[in-house]
Amino acid sequence: MIAITGATGQLGHQVINNLLARVPAEQIIAVDLESDRASDLAKLGVEVRFADYNKPETLLPAFTGADKVLLVSSPSGPDASRIAQHQAAIDAAITSGVELLAYTSVTHAPTNMMGMAPVHHATEQAIAESGVAAAILRNGWYAENHTGGIGNALKYGTLLGSAGNGRMASASRVDLAEAAAIILTSDDQAGKIYDLTGDTAWTLSDLAAEITAQSGKSVAYTDLPPEEYRQALQQVGMPEHVVELVVDAEVAISRGTLDYVTSDLSTLLGRPTTPMSASVAAALRDLV
Ligand code: NDP
Repeated sequence: MIAITGATGQLGHQVINNLLARVPAEQIIAVDLESDRASDLAKLGVEVRFADYNKPETLLPAFTGADKVLLVSSPSGPDASRIAQHQAAIDAAITSGVELLAYTSVTHAPTNMMGMAPVHHATEQAIAESGVAAAILRNGWYAENHTGGIGNALKYGTLLGSAGNGRMASASRVDLAEAAAIILTSDDQAGKIYDLTGDTAWTLSDLAAEITAQSGKSVAYTDLPPEEYRQALQQVGMPEHVVELVVDAEVAISRGTLDYVTSDLSTLLGRPTTPMSASVAAALRDLV
């Protein structure tokens, strides 16, 4: 049995869809914060179980019987509480006797300049210290973090950001989910650390040019000082914790924290990674 946390989240749900193509539904456990919203998965034969990272007593029943657990990192909250949430999941995985704990970390976790990185690095260290057999999936920055803003870019004719000329080898969730499913259904994954970037690095000016080319509407990249960018995101109604994450990330990108490419993702997939142009096309289709 393979258990996936964050099962109705954007990444977790796609991991399960990929697993469904590889193993019978009865071998998949969808672990979610609200067990009744995963009814689409239950209808397919996936076992749906409730767990809340903030309630450690819910994690062991959720993982019981699973040979492998994919711990999808907690989405928000103060660093200390997210590390505690992850520690509770690690402890539950060990107590339930898993053969493999897989954890979704962040690319270059030990040196990544983004504010989200220390939680991931601390979790990786906690996993190493626990002695559990583990695979670390250092996920790249999602391409969708930027293509999700295409609607506003088209509306205003400008793509706003604070990433300067920083290049980012972003990866699409589609690819990262497929990679996770491959890892979870492959042998000999204990001890592996994957750094999962896209095959090419691009700037927000490149993204604006691609939006222009595909939509036929002129979109230019406007680089803003971080405080002005923060205000712009607040004005379009973005939740405050997401605003903080995005502004922090863009400043780190402007400093080059994502300006490198690895081959881990394309090697796992056995094909080139999804190019930024395809992520733009998917986002434009979603707008229709
Ligand atoms: P989502 O926010 O779509 O999914 C996170 C899932 O975790 C949701 O199902 C959420 O439920 C669930 N969850 C929230 N709180 C708890 C809790 N206390 N106990 C159990 N489950 C909980 O994120 P993604 O799928 O897009 O990304 C997965 C993770 O990747 C994120 O959680 C975050 O740690 C990290 N991330 C990576 C980024 C990148 O670019 N690589 C960018 C941003 C985040 P609910 O919907 O009810 O909140």
